[in-house]
Amino acid sequence: MSSDKSVIYDYEKLLDRLYKLVPEPASSGERFEIPRPVTIYVGSVTIIKNFREIADRMKREPELLGKYLLKELATSGDYEESSGSFRLNVKVSSSSLYQLIERFAKSYVICPTCGRPDTYIKKTGRLWILKCEACGAEQPLKPI
Ligand SMILES: [Zn+2]
Repeated sequence: MSSDKSVIYDYEKLLDRLYKLVPEPASSGERFEIPRPVTIYVGSVTIIKNFREIADRMKREPELLGKYLLKELATSGDYEESSGSFRLNVKVSSSSLYQLIERFAKSYVICPTCGRPDTYIKKTGRLWILKCEACGAEQPLKPI
């Protein structure tokens, strides 16, 4: 029988495996930094060049972040998939945009229980829940 050897466990190897199963300690010191919006202006239009990068950092769909910005700024605009940029039909400074994006992160990304950004949005019809992968907490959200 060739399977005989498979029942002999190497104690050290087993221990090693157990250690690997223990989750890494939460790296609470690690900072969650959102890239600053890189903007260009064409007349009264603002283009956020690194829009996809910003959304990716927060693990959110660019369309969702875009919808939030348009609502907050009460303007119209579009996300351009091919370039990953966002066009706003209003002139907004990069720092104002950054503040808005931070506010978005606070409400729709950061877990209010543990403060980690490892979350996702669970949508059940009009019910939105912010689910944290780090601590498991759930927080109802206001749909955008
Ligand atoms: Zn959490």
